[in-house]
Amino acid sequence: MHSLDSIHGVGKVMINTLGKLDIYSIEDLLCFYPFRYEVIKKSDLYHDNLDKVIIDGRLIAIPSVFYINKSLNKMSFKIETDNMIISVTIFNRAYLKNKLKVGEYVTLFGKYDRKHNMLTANNIRLGKIPVIPKIEPVYHTVSGLTSKKIESFIDTNLEYRKYIKDYIPDEIKEKYKFLNKEDSILELHKPSSIENLKKARLRSKYEELFVFMIKMEYLKNSVKDRVGLPKKIDYNKVLEFINNLPFSLTEDQKKSVDDIYNDMTDSKRMNRLLQGDVGSGKTIISVISMYMNYLAGYQSALMAPTEILAVQHFNNINGLLSKYGINVAILTGKTKAKEKKEICKGLSDGSINIVIGTHALISENVIYNNLGLVVTDEQHRFGVRQRGSLQNKGVVPDILYMSATPIPRTYALTLYGDMDVSNIKTRPSGRLDIITKVKKESEIKDVLESMYKELLVGHQIYVIAPLIEESEKMDLKDVNLLYDKMNLAFGKKFNIGLLHGKMSGTEKEEVMKKFEKNETQILISTTVIEVGVDVPNTTMIVIFDAYRFGLSTLHQLRGRVGRNSLQSYCFLISNYEKERLKVMEETNDGFKISEEDFKLRGSGDLFGLKQSGDMSFNLADIKNDFNILKRAKEDCEEYLKNNMDSDIVKEVLSNSLDMSS
Ligand code: ADP
Ligand code: MG
Repeated sequence: MHSLDSIHGVGKVMINTLGKLDIYSIEDLLCFYPFRYEVIKKSDLYHDNLDKVIIDGRLIAIPSVFYINKSLNKMSFKIETDNMIISVTIFNRAYLKNKLKVGEYVTLFGKYDRKHNMLTANNIRLGKIPVIPKIEPVYHTVSGLTSKKIESFIDTNLEYRKYIKDYIPDEIKEKYKFLNKEDSILELHKPSSIENLKKARLRSKYEELFVFMIKMEYLKNSVKDRVGLPKKIDYNKVLEFINNLPFSLTEDQKKSVDDIYNDMTDSKRMNRLLQGDVGSGKTIISVISMYMNYLAGYQSALMAPTEILAVQHFNNINGLLSKYGINVAILTGKTKAKEKKEICKGLSDGSINIVIGTHALISENVIYNNLGLVVTDEQHRFGVRQRGSLQNKGVVPDILYMSATPIPRTYALTLYGDMDVSNIKTRPSGRLDIITKVKKESEIKDVLESMYKELLVGHQIYVIAPLIEESEKMDLKDVNLLYDKMNLAFGKKFNIGLLHGKMSGTEKEEVMKKFEKNETQILISTTVIEVGVDVPNTTMIVIFDAYRFGLSTLHQLRGRVGRNSLQSYCFLISNYEKERLKVMEETNDGFKISEEDFKLRGSGDLFGLKQSGDMSFNLADIKNDFNILKRAKEDCEEYLKNNMDSDIVKEVLSNSLDMSS
């Protein structure tokens, strides 16, 4: 790996900024592919690319020249294109004035301002000239970085592409006549033609999916091959525990508990996915599982995707289990060093029975005494980027994944293969469907009125603030504005909390605590990633700029309400895409919604709020490229038969989160 600071113009700040895009080395940079391209050719000006147009037309009036000073002059004229008349300005071309004749063609390069129907040209050629299309890369950015800047960093470091590992075995490259890796990286950043770009993209997608399949196959095999320990669990104690819960389990929940009990007492290692829509009650199943594991004499670890969720799980689980004498601890990236040391000690000597945390659980060099069960919540959000593994002195742990995202069956089979699945299909009884309404911004008054009614009867409300990706500063400004507005509307009688991405973990926790205790009645949040929070007294969620989200994400967010027997409401505020959002008004069924989403957007949103985790690909898309995926899967199975220890396999696996060791 070559470090970024050798790049001219890259210092500490820029390294930080690039880190936000998960770029940590020059190799990462070169694998940061454009997410789209602009093809610049003779433009029709209705195209959305206004910064760079090439157009020809006939001069319809004699140019006028204006001398601003000695070294600056401005020439203006009008041309008639195939379908419109445009005003043109160009600087420092006064010398061409006499060559520009009314009725003759010129070709212009420049920037088009649609509003003023004005082209500011930076170049002009006499006559109609054929223009070879130019393909320009467009990169994803974050604030402090432009696509152009990324392009220039890449341009000056392209020679490093020879260091980037090619994960496609030679025989497969041969079979499909794939480009080699170096050429393909070059094509992706500097396409020489649309044809070649397509080839490069196909190859890269295939490679991503092939690598993904190696991981999946390995995971399956390693789980299959390893024997777990048949655990001894006193079933009566489990029943007693369940009977002491404040509610009775639904049929599907009972079935899931039985599945897990059978897995854990079996000599085969458990590898189970627990799927259930938001609010279906997965958490309690994990608690019962950890209790069973405790009864058998083993430690459990639960990994949550975010700090807030970890804290919430901890409070919840500790509340349920501490009375049974079970020692529950929490370990996250924010845990203080001294405390961390103590927890690590407790985990390694076995005095801590259950640990809840974020991926700190795998990255902090924690050594467990006898870890018997690993639960991951919102499984799809754990990335392969998070390197590291669970270190365990004892047995091979059972594994339980929990996911709220129902994956359509065909895809699930391909992706998970023989992973066992338990489904919680129904929500706890007495739950009403959430009433959802799509509203325009101009209808905000209706929303405020509804909010007021809910507040008056003692309920609480989440408000998801507009999301602005480009600039975090703007984000804050916007959210503060919203905060002020809400304060104006409700501040006299109610308290309002504010949660945003710039806050520290402790600040966030503080805000959440107040909301949980009903000290604040409205919680405004920009950090939509905090899925899974559970404050049952909240009966309304208002989501601004709802069009920015995929339906599955909206469904997850909506699942924050409707968590008791009260009627709950969801407002989706959006001036756009009303049709798409209507699906949310029509159904509360997460499965239908995810299928709909799948149809509309591909897999992008299906696997989580942000594209991250095992299923986030640079270029490939599980839905749109499903045929490539199937190919890659077949090829991979064939390949692994004889090449389990090839360099390619070794390298892929050393880069992934390995939970099997
Ligand atoms: P999710 O599946 O989204 O993780 P949770 O586990 O957070 O859902 O459960 C949602 C809420 O429902 C929690 O407040 C939980 O205590 C409650 N709950 C779970 N199971 C039942 C049940 N069988 N009856 C009533 N409430 C339940
Ligand atoms: Mg949950």
